[in-house]
Amino acid sequence: MKKRLGLVIDQERCIGCEACTVACKIENHGIKGWIRVKTQNAPRKDTPDGRFPDLRMHFLPVLCNHCENPPCVDACPVEALTKRNDGLVFLEDEKCDGCRICLEACPYDAIIFNPKKEKAEKCNLCAHRIDRGLEPFCVICCEGQAIHIGDLNDPAGRISQLVSKPATFQRNPETGTNPSVYYRPPQQPRGL
Ligand code: SF4
Repeated sequence: MKKRLGLVIDQERCIGCEACTVACKIENHGIKGWIRVKTQNAPRKDTPDGRFPDLRMHFLPVLCNHCENPPCVDACPVEALTKRNDGLVFLEDEKCDGCRICLEACPYDAIIFNPKKEKAEKCNLCAHRIDRGLEPFCVICCEGQAIHIGDLNDPAGRISQLVSKPATFQRNPETGTNPSVYYRPPQQPRGL
């Protein structure tokens, strides 16, 4: 079976420190980090939900989902976006002509336009590192070890086992793109 690289992000372990965003920016020199951390279930990004002492704050790191059926690839008129054999959706900087059609095609708002370069950019899952047998830089810099990478098509692999656990979810599966980024939800504190 073909490889399908993907991520499992454990919300229970994510502390919202944004080390992943900084790591991405350092490694890839994008206009900003291609992984960004959203706050969930809180009225404001910097304010927890609930009343003291029952406070909650959950974080959702979001990035390109390296979708199994990626509409961005179909939409790109210059074939700058391709689906690799290992499942990565790769945006080739040299080929991009800055038309921005892919920004409209992506249902996850995962592609960023860099006005300085006049090109689109997005997470390539550190393909340059993967090709050298290394993990993406966000994975190794994550303080809480919340990001796991592996082959989703390997049933014995660690991330397939994480994906098979109850409550694991993909963002907006109704888009039909079958994201390769999965999330483990935070545990509900007792009494809530
Ligand atoms: Fe393409 Fe968006 Fe899916 Fe990434 S999340 S593969 S940019 S459609």
